[in-house]
Amino acid sequence: MRAMSKNSIKGLGTKAVHAGQEPDPVTGARAVPIYQTTSYVFRDTEHAANLFGLKELGNIYTRIMNPTTDVLEKRIAALESGVAGLAHSSGSAAVTNSILNICRSGDHIVSVSQLYGGTYNLFHYTLPKLGIDVSFIDAEDPDSFRKAIKPNTKLLFGETVGNPRLNIFPFEEVAKIAAEAELPLVIDNTAAPIICRPIEWGANVVVHSTTKYIGGHGTSIGGMVVDGGNFNWGNGKFPDFIEPDPSYHGLVHWDAFQAFEPFGGINIAYIMKMRLQLLRDMGACMSPTNAFLFLQGAETLHLRIERHCENALKTAEFLAGHDKVAWVNYPGLKDHPSHSVARKYLGGRFGPLVGFGIKGGHDAGRRFIENLGLFSHLANIGDAKSLAIHPASTTHSQLTPDEQATTGVTDDFVRLALGIEDFEDIQADIEQALAKA
Ligand code: PLP
Repeated sequence: MRAMSKNSIKGLGTKAVHAGQEPDPVTGARAVPIYQTTSYVFRDTEHAANLFGLKELGNIYTRIMNPTTDVLEKRIAALESGVAGLAHSSGSAAVTNSILNICRSGDHIVSVSQLYGGTYNLFHYTLPKLGIDVSFIDAEDPDSFRKAIKPNTKLLFGETVGNPRLNIFPFEEVAKIAAEAELPLVIDNTAAPIICRPIEWGANVVVHSTTKYIGGHGTSIGGMVVDGGNFNWGNGKFPDFIEPDPSYHGLVHWDAFQAFEPFGGINIAYIMKMRLQLLRDMGACMSPTNAFLFLQGAETLHLRIERHCENALKTAEFLAGHDKVAWVNYPGLKDHPSHSVARKYLGGRFGPLVGFGIKGGHDAGRRFIENLGLFSHLANIGDAKSLAIHPASTTHSQLTPDEQATTGVTDDFVRLALGIEDFEDIQADIEQALAKA
């Protein structure tokens, strides 16, 4: 590896293991050390002043940057074909900051309605309280994005795999609409890391709950925002990028970071503004120990995600042929509305999540969940262990029945997040729980 430049690495598996890291120059440690420190000693007063004045890049305080977290940010940015990343304390914080970095009070965004329940609440209740209006549209009708755009619209938002509807985002159509309107396309890629790379399909910002597949072992809460480096924030629609920032001695973010020399002359304006303003002011940073745990997950992500998807496809096929099952929702099934879209954007895989309804509805669904043994009944996805949940009574229970319907949740809906166990054991557990449902 010594002679090979990190920039020349093409393979996603190699990036998952190596991107963003050099062995520790002081100790030679091969693993990324956990820099569990709040702050960093300045060499002298000039060094301190240069760091604060952005004349020199370096560590100041772990709320803003940390060497362990820095490796994770670079690694996820590389896996997403982006230019830079910014780690957050949770996926929800990452989603929130991805919007607040662009919008101010009086602005408007257009989002798909098929969203993770927490994001739906953020968009439906909390953002309007801050003066940011959200129009919800149906992701399966890409043109509805165009129709919902207003003069004060600042971004378009979607999830690669609508959670829990499992519809696949129509990237090319919507990226074209976004580009024509000179608006950024922000995508939550939590459920499809590595198998889908939204920036390659025209997205400008990618968000992750690293809590899920990147962490992969159900140990830590975290989030990541990746800057595609492919959006012109100087197009006149985003005053916060082109006007002097009084909170940073008059810095103009677009002028300073659209071709940032210390980063090889690339456009990192979006992520730098987020780091300098939002992380500084709101403080939703990732802990170094969690960054270390997410790095452990990242190193096997390319292997695990294949197994998650393989188990999900086999489970969906098995359920589709089972006489106790009313319906199965999985993009890998040929009759699924997103099947051809999934084939195009997920590289021949169909994702790790399966939805289905049991004959007998709500009560049979509850009996099924209560009788699972290998599966854990909990509110998470992306664990190495197989997980099951009834969204209508849990993750989406704060939504009204109408809101649940627009996000794709029905009363009999059971969601499975397939783990990486042997399929034979997964099948046997589902079989015995169905028999008791
Ligand atoms: N985005 C998606 C698609 C999610 O599934 C979740 C959590 O379930 C989040 C964001 C929020 O992430 P976190 O729980 O890490 O705050």
